[in-house]
Amino acid sequence: MSLSLVLLGTSASRPTVERNVSSAALVREGETIMFDCGEGTQRQMMRYGVSFALRDIYFTHFHADHVIGLIGLMRTMALQGRTEEMRLFGPRGAGRHLKRAKEFGVDRITFPVEIVELEPLQTVAYGEFEIAAFPVDHGPSASFGYALVEHVRKGRFNPERARELGVPEGPLWGQIHRGQAVTLDDGRVIEPAELVGPQRAGRRVVITGDTRPCEATIEASRDADLLVHEATFADEEAERARETGHSTAREAAQVAAQAGARRLVLTHLSARYSHDASDLLREAREEFRHVTVAKDGMEIDVPFRDAEGSVTPDV
Ligand SMILES: [Zn+2]
Ligand SMILES: [Zn+2]
Repeated sequence: MSLSLVLLGTSASRPTVERNVSSAALVREGETIMFDCGEGTQRQMMRYGVSFALRDIYFTHFHADHVIGLIGLMRTMALQGRTEEMRLFGPRGAGRHLKRAKEFGVDRITFPVEIVELEPLQTVAYGEFEIAAFPVDHGPSASFGYALVEHVRKGRFNPERARELGVPEGPLWGQIHRGQAVTLDDGRVIEPAELVGPQRAGRRVVITGDTRPCEATIEASRDADLLVHEATFADEEAERARETGHSTAREAAQVAAQAGARRLVLTHLSARYSHDASDLLREAREEFRHVTVAKDGMEIDVPFRDAEGSVTPDV
């Protein structure tokens, strides 16, 4: 069950030579979900091989550097004759902002577009996971971070033990793995606990969008496999970070440490660190070891914690 994040744009406010403005794509088993869509995102998708067949885009907030790319992307989709529905999610104000972008970009709409204003802490259900919105701290307008949270998985099935107990390979293995006791031909009852290990945690990926360091991010990122936190400034501009509703790299790393996240990726860099982000990295490392500074096109694989992944006899 693959899960990876592709960073499509990692610059704050405006593009630079090295970096485009904000967008990221989570790809789970071939399904793509986008977070923010700054100007030029569609070219970044082409460049880094992210599918246009995506259905859902989540917006963290409606500052221009996170939204304007929607116009061009939807226009291209219409020119390509797209017919599949799109869904656009965001905090309060999504209806007003996104409707405007939609109307501007598409002369003749070839596909339905649903715009959904989410409440803080609302979740959107998918088959084996959900996307949860959490309110962050980025000035007066509503801003969200998002967490992709996979459901817990069944425990690991033990095929050797099943054979030892004489449980025939086939549908019975599947039933036991799904938690049902089975009765064998000789009358013995096999309880699932005999063959199935404890339930295993799913993966959790958190994307903050623009924000000051805040409690809601720490809560959402508890034990997260991957936290993508904005880090617009270095220590030398800590005051400016406070004034503008952004974080320093050090503050982002403190959030990751407090949350017990496993890995931190810093993004949304001010243009002055676009070429050389070594200050950001050094300051963040003083607070949290497992940190990487994002680059456009960087793909981060998010493996299950148990390295072998899900072993299932349900074939
Ligand atoms: Zn921004
Ligand atoms: Zn912003």
